[in-house]
Amino acid sequence: MQTRIGTSVTEVAYLLSIGELVAIPTETVYGLAANALDEKAVQSIFRVKNRPVFNPLIVHVKDAEQFSKYASEVPAICLKLAKAFSPGPITFVLPKRNVIPDHTTGGGNSVALRIPHHPLTLELLNQLHFPLAAPSANPSGYISPVSAQHVFDQLAGKIPYILDGGDCPVGIESTVITFEKEKVVVLRLGGLGIEDIERVAGKVALQINQSSNPSSPGQLKSHYAPKTPFLLGDAAKLISENKEKKIGLICFGDVEIQNSAIYKSINLSSKGDTYEAASKVFHAMREMDAAGLDLIIATLIPENGLGAAANDRLERAAAEK
Ligand code: AMP
Ligand code: MG
Repeated sequence: MQTRIGTSVTEVAYLLSIGELVAIPTETVYGLAANALDEKAVQSIFRVKNRPVFNPLIVHVKDAEQFSKYASEVPAICLKLAKAFSPGPITFVLPKRNVIPDHTTGGGNSVALRIPHHPLTLELLNQLHFPLAAPSANPSGYISPVSAQHVFDQLAGKIPYILDGGDCPVGIESTVITFEKEKVVVLRLGGLGIEDIERVAGKVALQINQSSNPSSPGQLKSHYAPKTPFLLGDAAKLISENKEKKIGLICFGDVEIQNSAIYKSINLSSKGDTYEAASKVFHAMREMDAAGLDLIIATLIPENGLGAAANDRLERAAAEK
């Protein structure tokens, strides 16, 4: 199959309506989209990504009015958060209605709903008569794509079209939340900071990194990983322990580490901005992975803003495979 990269929303709408898969841009990462209500199309997402069938997909809709079509209960606090932050990098896990096939939700009885903040994809959703199931457009376990070229590098020949919306401005996946009564429970850290959610919804509970029996099943420990060995921690110490290797260093802020073993270095934000760091973290991992290194070393960044979410991706990249 030939894979084209282009900007035709009409063509993408047509391909999706006949059950094909298309890569779409969002503000977080590129998604591998299919009609969320079409069981067959959804199954091909799992096949192309080699994704475990129990790992549920996020369903993308055009506005919050759609939530009650696909979810049987939509708490008031959910609508309040959607009003504040959607379209945007926040995903709401709600009890599902039967129109959503079990395949879409990994067999579970909840559905994850999100309104993506990207002009092309919102235009697309407005042309369609169905919502879009779209996980990140990468083979399962590898780094999420944040440009059309990243998608092409890994899925060329497997999908007919990549809708090119430029680089993803947020650059990491959405924050996933659910509700217990009217209280917010965060299932995955992501592109919307916890402080922002708490400003609207009050104190939240965190239920993340539960890889044994996760309530958000995509939270498997090793994820988002480059192929090159990846170590996270005290850079100076790790470099001195690996002096004989060709090292790539991912750092943050006003630091100056010089060592002849460092073959390439990328600063996620020299001015110390955690939002900038999050937007660069997957770019940096890909660039390092393509640089022919023996080892990538990275340091954790401050937890404020999107720092905790960026650290989560770094920790998963460093986790045992
Ligand atoms: P991805 O689209 O690849 O970023 O993955 C979507 C992630 O959202 C999943 O791996 C889960 O962690 C989370 N998610 C999606 N649907 C649900 C759901 N129904 N319940 C809990 N978590 C979900
Ligand atoms: Mg993913």
